[in-house]
Amino acid sequence: MVRVTNPECLFCRIVRGEIPAAVVYSTDQVLAFRDISPKAPVHVLVIPRDHHSDLASLAGADPALAGALLAAVGAVAEVEGVAESGYRTIFNSGRDGGQEVPHVHAHVLGGARLPTSIVP
Ligand code: AMP
Ligand code: ZN
Repeated sequence: MVRVTNPECLFCRIVRGEIPAAVVYSTDQVLAFRDISPKAPVHVLVIPRDHHSDLASLAGADPALAGALLAAVGAVAEVEGVAESGYRTIFNSGRDGGQEVPHVHAHVLGGARLPTSIVP
């Protein structure tokens, strides 16, 4: 399998094991790990192992992988124990969206009643 990777990308470095992360869920296509600066009791980032900059780029280039990423959000909610209580899923895109790391990632937030204003 040819892995789409970016040598400069922080999350690609986590995929390659060069930077440690608290992994909570992993498949051959996706990786989920705890956000280093959590905004809720549960705050997990779910990423494709392949590098795609944002949600639209991923969906355009590899829709099956986009589907796998969304399925992994549900799996993370299960393993983190918030599937029943509920959770919020956020994708930031670009400058105005507040995206700091240009490797597409879903924020999965839960474990408490979230204020509507929460912005990871
Ligand atoms: P965004 O602003 O949507 O691009 O979100 C990037 C997220 O990555 C932020 O919530 C950061 O706290 C988180 N983050 C940055 N570096 C790391 C890291 N080394 N491990 C885990 N999470 C990180
Ligand atoms: Zn990357």
